[in-house]
Amino acid sequence: MTKITRRTFSGGLGAAAAFGALSLPGCSTLTPSSAKVVVVGGGFGGATAARYIKRFDAGISVVLIEPSKSFVTCPFSNTVIGGLNSIDYITHGYGALRSMGIDVVHDRVSDIDSAGKSVTLSGGAKIAFERCIVSPGIDFRWDAIEGLDESIAQTMPHAWQAGPQTLLLKRQLEAMPDGGVFVISPPGNPFRCPPGPGERISLVANYFKQAKPRSKIVVLDPKPTFSKQGLFQEGWAKLYPGMIDYRNIDNDGAVARVDVGEMALVTDFSGEKVKGNVVNLIPPQKAGKIAQDTGLADNTGWCPVDQQTFESTLQPGVHVIGDASVASPMPKSGFAASTQAKVCAAAVVGLLRGEAPGTPKFVNTCYSLVAADYGISVAMVYGYEDGKIVKIEGSGGLSPSGAPAAYRNKEANYARGWYESISNDIWG
Ligand SMILES: Cc1cc2nc3c(=O)[nH]c(=O)nc-3n(C[C@H](O)[C@H](O)[C@H](O)COP(=O)(O)OP(=O)(O)OC[C@H]3O[C@@H](n4cnc5c(N)ncnc54)[C@H](O)[C@@H]3O)c2cc1C
Repeated sequence: MTKITRRTFSGGLGAAAAFGALSLPGCSTLTPSSAKVVVVGGGFGGATAARYIKRFDAGISVVLIEPSKSFVTCPFSNTVIGGLNSIDYITHGYGALRSMGIDVVHDRVSDIDSAGKSVTLSGGAKIAFERCIVSPGIDFRWDAIEGLDESIAQTMPHAWQAGPQTLLLKRQLEAMPDGGVFVISPPGNPFRCPPGPGERISLVANYFKQAKPRSKIVVLDPKPTFSKQGLFQEGWAKLYPGMIDYRNIDNDGAVARVDVGEMALVTDFSGEKVKGNVVNLIPPQKAGKIAQDTGLADNTGWCPVDQQTFESTLQPGVHVIGDASVASPMPKSGFAASTQAKVCAAAVVGLLRGEAPGTPKFVNTCYSLVAADYGISVAMVYGYEDGKIVKIEGSGGLSPSGAPAAYRNKEANYARGWYESISNDIWG
């Protein structure tokens, strides 16, 4: 039997495909040549935006472009590294989005032409759009630290994009001898998931406590403080006494140089070589590459947007959401990306109908696990005033310090509930 490949099939039906999305029973959907809305990136922001446009108006054609066949979430990836969950728990497919009528195309966008209103895929195909929503996540500033380059992530994984990097760090920790040293260096602000490093330190400590109790963790932080610091340090003192040596910028925590041969990070102030059996260097960050390449990012490395609609202030007709966008005071989190996506989807549906956008409200909660049965959180509701996203004072807050074990256990359950419900809302 002749094998019909995607290439020969689409070549033969090129003319038909030019009229829009075409699918046959049992065959993959061909790449359409146009859609009302093209969404770039199938992570927290992009998949939510695609889904909610369809929910708000099922008649709007939506193409979602994402290179990976399934998405591995960073949220809960620290539980994989710490041995509490498998990678399957944090891996989600795109079947549910397809079944809503979204055209999911597994390819990479290589160009976005805001004036000509089209995106180009890596193979050269073009898709025309009326509005484009871009949620490409982050890229790393490989030139920010002496001796650092992209290849070093194979030896000193960042594990700040989930998938192979998550599993590499997990394997390295498993191979580490009891009594070894784990060195972790979080980046400076702004970066993806401010409480993420604190959670990673906690869940690696939790693993060491059970599997390698003589091991130590050294934290080299270039910042003066970190998110939920008081709550994390209260948990570390209680659960992992003497295991974690946390150094901030005032205590020689900034890294000036990477010495991959010696598995060492060299500090900025004293020049101390801090050696580790496992080194988790999380580089400074900027908006994802496609945003840099297409003029969506400014000289800060991030993408300025109209905070009411998330339309780029640099490239009209293209909206940027999620980590890549400038949406402060909201943090760069999956929850924030998803809530921004809903606001953006409503604005885009309105703009396509010629309606003025409404006044948005946003919400964010970041749960962190200090151990499997010990959760902490920070929450905030945001409004929109005078052209800017603002915190609604008194709307959120931190978990209390000094709370009893039962309270921490409840928050750990809420964390799992949050993860499962947001994953289901986006990909389920
Ligand atoms: C360890 C860790 C723990 C975290 N824990 C939490 C948590 O508990 N709660 C929380 O809310 N957040 C958490 N986060 C943060 C969260 O992962 C991010 O904020 C969120 O993923 C941002 O969504 P996004 O859509 O901007 O980017 P992503 O979710 O990363 O999605 C970007 C997508 O764009 C695709 N893409 C990139 N370039 C292209 C291109 N050229 N063409 C097509 N597609 C492209 C990528 O393949 C990717 O799938 C955590 C992060 C880390 C690192």
